[in-house]
Amino acid sequence: MKAPPRRKFLQMLAAAGAGLALHRLGGSKALAAALPEAGGGRKLGVALMGLGQYASGQLAPALGETRLCRLTGVITGDQAKGEKWSQRHGFPATSVYHYNTIDRIAGNKDIDIIYVVTPPGLHAEHVKLAAATGKHVICEKPMANSVAECDSMIDACRKAGVKLSIGYRLQFEPHHREIDRLAREKVFGSFQQMSGGFAFVMRNRAWRVEKRLAGGGPLMDLGVYVIQAACRAAGGVAPVAVTAREEPKTNPKLFNEVEETLRWTMEFPDGAKCDGFTSYADRANEFSAKSPKGWVKLNPAYSYGGIEGEVSQGKFKFPNINQQAAQMDDFADCILTGRDTPVPGEMGRMHLTVVEAIYEAVRTGGRVAVRA
Ligand code: NAD
Repeated sequence: MKAPPRRKFLQMLAAAGAGLALHRLGGSKALAAALPEAGGGRKLGVALMGLGQYASGQLAPALGETRLCRLTGVITGDQAKGEKWSQRHGFPATSVYHYNTIDRIAGNKDIDIIYVVTPPGLHAEHVKLAAATGKHVICEKPMANSVAECDSMIDACRKAGVKLSIGYRLQFEPHHREIDRLAREKVFGSFQQMSGGFAFVMRNRAWRVEKRLAGGGPLMDLGVYVIQAACRAAGGVAPVAVTAREEPKTNPKLFNEVEETLRWTMEFPDGAKCDGFTSYADRANEFSAKSPKGWVKLNPAYSYGGIEGEVSQGKFKFPNINQQAAQMDDFADCILTGRDTPVPGEMGRMHLTVVEAIYEAVRTGGRVAVRA
């Protein structure tokens, strides 16, 4: 199939954007019509577990913008902080829980979802505690420190009969969804050469340099976004093999437990390749995918807003959405309608199989098969 000329192509993108606007905040006209019946008009209650930067800076404000969710509780090690949250967000102080009293959430009818926003090394323990309350669970990225932990989390949620989703906000971001469409409809054929980098200069962010809590360095924290984007541009599949190398550390004192900078290459089943870059000592925020028939680029690619796209025919820009609100609304819709989440634990696990293969490739210096 020949790629369409520039004007027609950009019109097609605009049409895709209009569709996305409808999808905004996880909704559709059909969904809005179905809601009063599905949820009894009630918004689902979300309890945030871990009141750090992401919970306070992004998720709590996003909960103010969701159509189907509201903030109804917190789990924190700091009771006074939790009570301040209860006053600010209008839920009772009895809905402030400690990590040791989370089991009591089982009896709280105002909480439907527990959102785990603690360091990755604690996700497995916290997701299992959350699932045991019988509430549905969202777990922040990266899903856990290892594939084995992911398996135990998926298993615990399945046994408890609750849904598990990963906090992959970009699954709902219009520019990334456009790449999904380009890949799915093979508008340029299959993308053969991809590249992506996500890096920032990290000075002293406590757990992010502690292997036990972070699982690894920037690959775990930022590189997972590149892995995610590449798997989407490859048509929703995992790579079959990786090669990787760690760059010398410029600050070995700070990065004495985890890597500071990594470069890796992923090989996909159809022969496509993606070069990845991540670092805590540099800046990068881009993704591109090319085929002989055309290309697509995002730059910036992974930010909370302001993502910009370009294809071989010209630039494209969709309206900003609140990514976290869209993500939480979609999960609430899954619960209300019984639909499977498009961002299940299995997706987080798949990316961890790639992460583990990359670390093994760094250690061995060889090409490592991905056991997805
Ligand atoms: P943070 O350090 O600001 O917050 C972590 C929270 O966990 C704090 O409230 C802390 O008190 C709590 N905690 C509980 N037990 C702890 C322990 N033993 N050690 C350290 N902290 C403990 O971190 P953050 O930036 O809010 O990140 C939290 C999670 O959110 C991580 O999984 C991170 O990857 C993820 N995150 C996701 C995005 C995104 O865009 N999806 C962005 C930032 C962070």
